[in-house]
Amino acid sequence: MKYISTRGGIQPINFKEAVMMGLATDGGLIIPENIPDVTNKLQAWKNLNFTDLAFEVISCFVDDINNDDLYDIVKRSYATFDHKDITPVVKAGNLHILELFHGPTQAFKDVALQFLGNVFEHILKEQGGQLNILGATSGDTGSAAIHGVRGKQNINIFIMHPEGKTSPIQAKQMTSVLDENVHNIAVAGSFDDCQSLMKGAFNDLDFKQKYHLGAVNSVNWARIVAQIVYYFWGHFQVSKSVEAKVSFSVPTGNFGDIFAGYLATRMGLPVDKLMLATNENNILTTFFTSGIYRRSEVCHTVSPSMDIQVASNFERYLYYFLNEDSVKLKETMQDFAQNNQIKLDCTGNHVDNLFESKSSPAMETYDTIKRYYQEYNYLLDPHTAVGVKVAEEFAINDIPVICLATAHPAKFPDAIEQSLGQDIARHPQLDKLQNAKTRCISLPNDLNAIKQIVSERA
Ligand SMILES: *Cc1c(COP(=O)(O)O)cnc(C)c1O
Repeated sequence: MKYISTRGGIQPINFKEAVMMGLATDGGLIIPENIPDVTNKLQAWKNLNFTDLAFEVISCFVDDINNDDLYDIVKRSYATFDHKDITPVVKAGNLHILELFHGPTQAFKDVALQFLGNVFEHILKEQGGQLNILGATSGDTGSAAIHGVRGKQNINIFIMHPEGKTSPIQAKQMTSVLDENVHNIAVAGSFDDCQSLMKGAFNDLDFKQKYHLGAVNSVNWARIVAQIVYYFWGHFQVSKSVEAKVSFSVPTGNFGDIFAGYLATRMGLPVDKLMLATNENNILTTFFTSGIYRRSEVCHTVSPSMDIQVASNFERYLYYFLNEDSVKLKETMQDFAQNNQIKLDCTGNHVDNLFESKSSPAMETYDTIKRYYQEYNYLLDPHTAVGVKVAEEFAINDIPVICLATAHPAKFPDAIEQSLGQDIARHPQLDKLQNAKTRCISLPNDLNAIKQIVSERA
């Protein structure tokens, strides 16, 4: 399998190059040259365990890592999960809940970042060299990235977070990782300041090259490919036959998770609807119901990991929507950069019949958490609750709906307390953090200070 850019400006590259490139060098996003059709493999895949299925799915996209090594990478990536099924499916009312939060940081990002960490390590071991990952986080991604590369050879990770402004649990999940290659930096400033510092470091090309800076942002192809797996898995757990259709409801931010579902569908998985659930940040809902894609201000909500302004993976979908026409895609992206808005064809209130979309605001989210706890004794986290509410809206008879559960409720005690009047969500791993030893460097909001730490410790 070769990879190209949505904007058509790179020569075809292989999987390992795609992973190391992250964002395509022409400013586009990396996509496979063609989407494999696996329709005739579904029957054989249906009875595999998660790890074997993950290997089969990911193999379709990788031909420059030998099978033994790839199997070993996949196996180690999911050995860190605390459930034998890795991503189990449970039932709550009429809905199926695909629990993606059994990894080391209790959020779905572990599914991709455990894999990415092992792929990075494999490539660096083989090719020599070093990688210094620099990132800025307001919470979730930073801790999943740290847990993805902790203790790995030839990799350092530097994660900046705004001092005192991430939730106490999320800060602890990062700073309690004491491996020598992990460097937490608390910046005296806001999340935006952290992001500016990161951009500043990456824009200094000499510095970037000298210290082999890399990122683990949500556009890395390895993250998408790992996320395709659980759509197949989920389908196989709930449907009677491999030909029967199911729908998925996906709480969406940067469009990475649901884009993996889109690819699974294009690969031949029978899917009726992809339900794209948003919170108050509903730019994608507006798009799928009107064809208008318009930049807007970020609004802070009770489901913070879905608080986005512009979805970084959306360009991948747009490329397929525009019939894989790079020229048209480039024009459309330029148009968006200039006017902060684009308008695409929309029939009725559907841009694409595969997608349904709706936004569920905070009051509904609290209500959904309360209802599912009272009626089904199942505790939803606020992100999953957004997806569940939207699933209820679009569910139709006889087609099972699988809601992707993207975080464990104990990560969001405030939302649980707001919904139920008390904080009853518990997770043994999170309880342990209370007394955990931590390590963190405090730095001023100053690019030189950041660069100095990287140069000393890289
Ligand atoms: C990142 C995240 C999301 C959004 O996923 P995208 O791939 O950005 O659409 C939803 N829920 C949780 C808990 C997350 O961490």
